[in-house]
Amino acid sequence: MDRKQFLAGLGGIGAASFLGMRSTSAQSARGDAHGPGKPKSEWKKLLPAAAYAVLFEEDTERSFTSPLNDEHRPGTFICAACFQPLFDARAKFDSGTGWPSFYEALPGRIATKRDFRLIWPRAEYHCTVCGGHQGHVFDDGPAPTGKRYCNNGVALRFIPAGEAPPPLRA
Ligand SMILES: [Zn+2]
Repeated sequence: MDRKQFLAGLGGIGAASFLGMRSTSAQSARGDAHGPGKPKSEWKKLLPAAAYAVLFEEDTERSFTSPLNDEHRPGTFICAACFQPLFDARAKFDSGTGWPSFYEALPGRIATKRDFRLIWPRAEYHCTVCGGHQGHVFDDGPAPTGKRYCNNGVALRFIPAGEAPPPLRA
């Protein structure tokens, strides 16, 4: 995939910021082919094996294994790889599936098939900064959106309200 095709696949969301932030985007899209951001080889060094497997090898954690299932404090869920904030804790609900679930993501922070249709299957969603696989979105969620973002807990980190998130590592 060349740079032009890659950017076409991104749609509008975030494409300009990818380019502005990192000149290596196209290179990593060609090299490790997982999306924008660092090459997978770099993430492999930075992340615990279980988080790397979910984020960059499309693995799925076993249900009811994430401590974040029981996280109910106000705060923000950030990408475990690049630390981009992805979900406000207010959008979290108990789906009964055993995976942290949200009815909406923060605007522009994840991309689904519309934005990445050339790269990823339809229901998957990915972090727009690092391209890491977070989970799958379904249409059986609660009001007000009717969406259910079913997220791997190991791909997230929780930052309680009032605590500063770590700086982006993109
Ligand atoms: Zn990320």
